[in-house]
Amino acid sequence: MRNLETDVLVVGAGGAGMYAAVEAARLGSRVILADRGLIGRSGATVMAQMTVAAAMGEPADDSVEAHLADTLQAGRELCEPDLSRLLCEEGLECVREMDTWGVGWARAEGQLTPVMAPGHDRPRCVYVDFLNTGPAVSRTLRTQVIRSPLVQRVGDLCITDLVVHEGRCAGAVGVHLTTGEAVTIVAGAVVLACGGLTRLYARNSASSNMGGDAYALALRAGAPLIDMEFVQFFPIGHLAPRMIGMDPIMWDPFRYKLGGRLLNGLKEEFTHRYGTEDGGRYTITRDQATYAIYKEVEAGRGSPHGGAWLSFEHLPPEQLRAAFGPVVDRLAKNGIDLAKTPIEVAPIAHYHMGGVAVDTRMATVVPGLFVGGEAVGGANGANRLSGNAITEAFAFGRRAGASAAQAVSVLAADAVADPVASASRIERVRAQAQRLIEATLTPGTLPTEANTAAAIDELQTIMSRKVGPFRTEAGLREGLDGVRALATRFHAAPSFAPGAFDPVWLDWFDLRNMTLVAETVTVAALERTESRGAHQREDHPGLDPNWTLHLESRLAGPTDAIALVQSQANPQIALARVPVNAGVAA
Ligand SMILES: Cc1cc2nc3c(=O)[nH]c(=O)nc-3n(C[C@H](O)[C@H](O)[C@H](O)COP(=O)(O)OP(=O)(O)OC[C@H]3O[C@@H](n4cnc5c(N)ncnc54)[C@H](O)[C@@H]3O)c2cc1C
Repeated sequence: MRNLETDVLVVGAGGAGMYAAVEAARLGSRVILADRGLIGRSGATVMAQMTVAAAMGEPADDSVEAHLADTLQAGRELCEPDLSRLLCEEGLECVREMDTWGVGWARAEGQLTPVMAPGHDRPRCVYVDFLNTGPAVSRTLRTQVIRSPLVQRVGDLCITDLVVHEGRCAGAVGVHLTTGEAVTIVAGAVVLACGGLTRLYARNSASSNMGGDAYALALRAGAPLIDMEFVQFFPIGHLAPRMIGMDPIMWDPFRYKLGGRLLNGLKEEFTHRYGTEDGGRYTITRDQATYAIYKEVEAGRGSPHGGAWLSFEHLPPEQLRAAFGPVVDRLAKNGIDLAKTPIEVAPIAHYHMGGVAVDTRMATVVPGLFVGGEAVGGANGANRLSGNAITEAFAFGRRAGASAAQAVSVLAADAVADPVASASRIERVRAQAQRLIEATLTPGTLPTEANTAAAIDELQTIMSRKVGPFRTEAGLREGLDGVRALATRFHAAPSFAPGAFDPVWLDWFDLRNMTLVAETVTVAALERTESRGAHQREDHPGLDPNWTLHLESRLAGPTDAIALVQSQANPQIALARVPVNAGVAA
């Protein structure tokens, strides 16, 4: 067992986690930045090849108010306006700061070249060419992290539970994946920045680390979640032909730059049948496009593999080359010539609007626990605008880092006033962490033939078929039964101690979190009997003004991680209705 100690523990080193670490260190805190993968090279941020929304006002006029108005409109009255404002206001500051750090936002003749994206009222989305935004953002933040002497980077460390001591989040426990060693971390404050949950679905744009760890860790620490039913499906994920080494949502920038025609299996334009003229200009929002493609497939008018055609055949090859340079060659290696053939696209799980309930300091109801990035719920309501997620990762990560540093400075003042009490508190936290390790990392009674990897596949299939973008009561109930049955089958831990590079234990940890988070999504989707944004109930079409509220999810019964592991029952979710703009982390 290895025991670490720090001021601020940041869990997850994507855009939000790295920004949080840099900010907390800038304010004088010692930081451990832990990630279950490589620091700054795992999760969604590094995969995001496209755009970042910010009202830079260059070359044409723009304003935070205009960006905010578009964000609120897309959110279908479920945005927490203070969080949305933070996203637009402080996100802008961060995008400018990234510029000074040399990220390389695309420019022509010295001026930024923001592009138009669906739901924005003007070109507002900056990017790094060609399809290089996420890698450039990650590289820039990694450099800042490396330049911060107060930040200690710990990769390959999967955080499995948070330590809550005397009502306060005081650290975490985890397993070092390359050695199988248990790790305890005592911290003055913790920032959760573990990204979203899209790995719950079979077709997704995610890395394998996006199974909703932040939500499960927060729930077991006693922090509620909101809006869990709102999973955003990206309408034009790559479907066919086979394509290797490229981002499955890469067709977005093609559409931003070139438009492109969305056609059904009969090669007809179809979005107008569902209330939106797209006309090759890419103005349709994500939820509307997802709906339109699903409905065409359902009506038997899908493309051969069950999606829609996306065609650039009407554009001259020179125009494609001018817009995408080397990407055209990478496509050619995959046998794709856009000037000659359309490709097939289909909706894939891409982003999660819900998340942990926080106030504008990114503080949860659990003292000492802060959240940043996609793991935060509320800023984007029922539907997120393109480009807002990276902006959110920056703004909320920076805020969470600053708030955690501030919380630590209060503890530091207490320690100066009473060093004996402070040392004794640290000892008690460490003892609590060790009890947690004994409860959660000790061999259990899972039968050796139980296949944890196959169970993850099974879960993804259930979620895709029963809790996808279009839902019914009967389907959701079946989904819930399936998720609960899996959680019961895999409740007990593997029957051997974790080893180095141990895929069974890692899958088991993932299953434990994924079944809990899947249950949360399903229960909330069942409860919300209306259709709004990304949550579409076939049996309750249309938005119902009585549902202009959040569904808040908490663990019912024991919330203590040790009691949960020892209990034979699955954790249960309790839902509450919370008004919008009434302080979701109150
Ligand atoms: C393919 C793709 C393309 C996208 N394109 C865009 C785009 O163009 N514009 C836009 O605005 N948004 C885009 N998004 C969404 C956006 O990238 C994300 O919402 C955002 O980057 C999330 O940042 P984050 O820091 O919150 O999480 P991530 O970047 O996902 O980072 C989370 C980190 O937490 C780590 N982690 C998870 N669990 C644990 C654990 N238990 N212990 C330790 N570490 C853990 C992961 O390894 C990961 O490194 C895209 C997403 C994807 C998947």
